[in-house]
Amino acid sequence: MDNFELLSEYYTFLKEKKGEGKKVVAFMSHDNIPEELIDAAGFVPLRLIFAGNDELMDASHDFLSPSTCAFAQSCIGVFSVKPDPYRFLELIDYFIVSNHCVSDICASEVIAKYFNLQRLNFYVSYTKTGNSLKYFKLELLNLKKQLEEITGTKIDNQDLMDSIKKYNIFKKKLLEISNLTLNGSQKLKIFHKAMLYGPAILPELDNIILEQSQTQISGESKDILLTGCSIFINDYLNDLIEEGGGNVVFFDTWVGFNYYYQIIDEKVLNASKDSIDLLTHRFEKNIYGDHSVPNFLERKVSHIENFSINYEKKTGKKIGVINHIIKFCDHMSIMSSHLKNQLKEKGIYVLNLERDYSRANRGQLSTRIEAFLEMM
Ligand code: SF4
Repeated sequence: MDNFELLSEYYTFLKEKKGEGKKVVAFMSHDNIPEELIDAAGFVPLRLIFAGNDELMDASHDFLSPSTCAFAQSCIGVFSVKPDPYRFLELIDYFIVSNHCVSDICASEVIAKYFNLQRLNFYVSYTKTGNSLKYFKLELLNLKKQLEEITGTKIDNQDLMDSIKKYNIFKKKLLEISNLTLNGSQKLKIFHKAMLYGPAILPELDNIILEQSQTQISGESKDILLTGCSIFINDYLNDLIEEGGGNVVFFDTWVGFNYYYQIIDEKVLNASKDSIDLLTHRFEKNIYGDHSVPNFLERKVSHIENFSINYEKKTGKKIGVINHIIKFCDHMSIMSSHLKNQLKEKGIYVLNLERDYSRANRGQLSTRIEAFLEMM
């Protein structure tokens, strides 16, 4: 299924949900947005995960300067680009404005204001101290209240608990998918679809796992851990890696590990009576997300080092790391040279790949990736 087929099928899916009377709540794709609350309110959460070409970036320039990160530009662009393969965005009713980073706030505010979407607010603390956790809990309660005001009914604790359990199972399945012997483009396609549909595609994930659709990956492929910024729907970056002889075996990004590792331990899940406390607990344990300071760099380095050691033990192969930095993404660029140096000291090859989505960059990117894979 190509991306346009996926988008067209998703339009049908959303239309059906709207037909059932559900509202659609969209937000930019970063972690910490409690989609379970949206689900428990009877709404459909929609992550914006569309970025990868000039058209979407260019379509945003009436609203924000080109020095905004290319992903945030594209999130605005999907609402104004013509002709419109993203027509399902017409079905959005509400937009969450959150503060993952400055670009996220600016782009979300622009989208809510200029595309006439009712705004919901959800702000996330940057630290994990006692007070930060209390603040996060207050924000959860505030979002819950905003959703309840729309529906005119209270979100039941048990309904939210059920939703948390459902998403927990969903993330476990994605973890299993991540461990299958599929090549990078197959995994990425599944992750993209899963991030759009959510637990509605659990049976499909079960089938994939059951069939163990094992693709024989050439022993010659250079295995890559992709960290930094995600590869979104319609981006060609993974194609360049595969065309150069590489294969992404691990997506250490928001569309990937940063999402599905946030699984709540079964014991905690079964012992807890308060669903809001459970979501706060998950936020506290989300130690790898780039929204959290301090210790982001240390954790990232040790996580990649551990993965690399285990991978080599399991397969006898060394991994290389591509650190994908979307141009003007402060979160990823600010630490990139430290990340590279620290991993290099541990014997891990790293390519810091900073880029926007311009088609004109394709040749240059391809050359850099090929050179890196060759060097590995
Ligand atoms: S600056 Fe980075 S973290 Fe912020 S919206 Fe852009 S890609 Fe996401």
